[in-house]
Parts: sequence; C-alpha cells; structure tokens
Amino acid sequence: MKHIKDVNLKGKRVLLRVDFNVPTDENGNITDDTRIRKSVPTMQKLINDGAKTIIMSHLGRPKGEFDAKYSLKNVAKRISEILGKEVLFTQSLLGEEVTNMVNNMKEGDIMLLENIRFYKGETDGDMAFAKELAKLGDAYVNNAFGTVHRNHASVALLAELFPNDHYFGFLMEREVENLSYLLGNPERPFTAIIGGSKISGKIDVLENLIPKVDNMIIGGGMRYTFTKALGGKIGNSIHEDDKLDVALDLVDKMKKNNVNLYLPIDCMVIKEFRNDAESMLVPGDQIPDGWEAVDCGPKSIELFREVILKSKTILWNGPMGVFEMPNFAKGTFGVAEAVAEATKNGAFSVAGGGDSISALQQLDMMDKMSFVSTGGGAMLEFLSGIELPGLKHMK
Ligand code: ADP
Ligand code: MG
Repeated sequence: MKHIKDVNLKGKRVLLRVDFNVPTDENGNITDDTRIRKSVPTMQKLINDGAKTIIMSHLGRPKGEFDAKYSLKNVAKRISEILGKEVLFTQSLLGEEVTNMVNNMKEGDIMLLENIRFYKGETDGDMAFAKELAKLGDAYVNNAFGTVHRNHASVALLAELFPNDHYFGFLMEREVENLSYLLGNPERPFTAIIGGSKISGKIDVLENLIPKVDNMIIGGGMRYTFTKALGGKIGNSIHEDDKLDVALDLVDKMKKNNVNLYLPIDCMVIKEFRNDAESMLVPGDQIPDGWEAVDCGPKSIELFREVILKSKTILWNGPMGVFEMPNFAKGTFGVAEAVAEATKNGAFSVAGGGDSISALQQLDMMDKMSFVSTGGGAMLEFLSGIELPGLKHMK
C-alpha cells in the first residue's frame, strides 16, 4: 500500500478522487460538510507539497449528463471556505477549457472538477473515459472510501493507469487499516454487534465474521427473521420470509464455529407505529399477535453490556431498535454507551453505518469509539471479505 505521507508530490498534477457526496437541502445548500472535512488533511498535504491538485467527486445520482441539481459548485465554495484558499472550479471534466485551466495551474493550486457522474463513462467503468481523465494528471490519489466498492472509472481504473504513481489518501488508509485489523487477528474476545432493519445486505458480512468472532449480538429488526426461523413468535415484527433458511444456516455456522449468539431476551412492542403508541415489554421470542417489536428491553441491554464490557475488540453496525422514535432508542443508545465504556477501558471499537453514525451523533459520542467508518455500503462490502474494485490496483 502506497501512502501520500511517504512521498512529496511537488510540481505533480495530482488527480485526487474523494467522496464529497454531501447531503444538501432542496436549494442545493450543504447541510453537513463532514465528508469534505474528512479530506482536509489529504488536500492540505498536497497543497503543502506544492502539488497541483485536481479533485474529482460525485454528488447524488445524475443520469450521466449535466443536471444543475447535482452541480458541485457549492462544494467548491465550501472547500474554499474550509481551506481558506481559492478553489478553481470547472464546468466540465474534459475538453479544451479544462486542459487549459490545468496547464495554467501553479504549484499549490487546487481545482475541483464538476460532478464526475455527469459522464456516463464514470458509472459504466469505461476505460476510454478513464484514459481521458488520466491525461489531466501525473499521479492518482484515492481518498474516496465511501465509493471503493463501486466499479466506476475514477475509482477502479485510474490506479491501473498510474501503476507507479497511485497513493492512498489519509482517510482511505485509516479505513483500510482499521477494518483490515478486524478481519486479521484482532485481540479477543471479539464481539460483533449487528442490527438494522434487514438481514439481507448483511448476510455476507455475517458469514465472513462468524469464523473470526467470539460473540455475535444480533438485534434490531433483523433478529426477528432469526427468531421466526428458530420457531419463536414474532407477531407483526419486521422480518424476511425468504431469508429464514439463510438465518438457520447462519445459526448453524455459529454453532460449528463456537460463536456465542446473543439475541435480545426481552423487547418493547407496540400496536401502532408511532413514538407515543401504547407499549409493553415481552420476552424476545413471544411477541403477541397484532404487536410489533421496536426495541430491545432492559434485560437485553444488561446482557449485551456484560458481553461488550468483557470484549477486547468490538464491531458495531446497525441500530438495536427504531431509534428514530425517542421512546424506542434505549437499546441502541444502551449499546452505544456500553461500547464507549469498553473503549475507555482499553477495547478497540469500530462503528459504522449511516444510521448507527446518526445515533452516535445524537449522543455526541462519535469520538468515544476507537474508529468510526465513513463508508456505509463500502464498509459492509469490505467486511464481507471480497476484493473491492477500488482497492484491486491500489497495491
Ligand atoms: P446502518 O445504516 O447503521 O447500517 P441499517 O440501515 O441497517 O443501519 O438499519 C437502520 C434502520 O433499522 C433504522 O431506520 C431503524 O429504524 C431500523 N430498525 C431497527 N430495529 C428495527 C425494528 N425492530 N423494526 C423495524 N425497523 C428497525
Ligand atoms: Mg442505513
């Protein structure tokens, strides 16, 4: 793995792929610039080196052509505010205007190209398009962990076109290092806490983790697919009937690998899906007809806490309940607090997933984890152990 910290790119035209796919309101104003801030160390390093930095990013899902709604114009402005420095911005990606602008760049200059997904070649993973992009630079830096699982031109092909001049940015390196640690030989006991609404999308991760972990805590909506498969009563709780076999197979694999499986032993159930609905506490596998489980109960939280506090390595992805409703956030918040406490006591913890991060933000606990992964889908794919397109040629 080659890292920008080990080189000086003075005078080089550096193509920097980032993930500045920031959330915006209906007027295109940026509502959260975390993704931009995460790449400041990388941009600053290139500026300090005296490189000519050419940034590529996507925003949203335009259909391969210009769409004002997805312009990166406001992103350019925000980068400029954050860095306290002018950021050149191009209306297009290719063509004479861009080439001229690049030729006129001075050392330390920084430029943002317009949304790379305005070109179909990007999402098609088109080599001809990648080669056109490559003409603009002398080196390639990938800091776009959030898109590393995409087979897109600027993510998957450019490293190959700069065989001796491709590098990881700081964010990318930290993501890959921390997630690789989990898949390597981390300190034990290793506990994975997996939640969220559905089992589909997380099956490969569970499969890959089973041989590596000591404890598996499965909460959130996905546990009801397991509970139904195991013969419990789930009432109206969310579940996937076409994944019952998969759930049983996973349980079987956990047994064979001596993994302790923990499912919530009690849970909060409601009849109407709203925060102030009438609720009651029932055993986790005995949900009455007409009722739906939306959170785990105090006994489960206590049990999970004990397991978490005994762990030396912890991975957490997915809320333990419908935490968007404050009355049913206790399970999710309880787990977050236990992971934070274990981390304070010296455990190594990784949390990730859009909704899990949002729970951590609500608790103001982002910095209480050892590491928070920024790439939701990318993190899950990484943890499922497959070789990701964006890492294939980054050796
Ligand atoms: P992440 O984004 O952290 O990976 P997911 O997207 O997999 O998490 O799942 C988050 C969603 O799961 C939340 O919107 C939450 O409301 C939902 N969820 C959790 N528990 C339940 C449940 N018991 N019933 C229905 N939805 C649930
Ligand atoms: Mg989510």
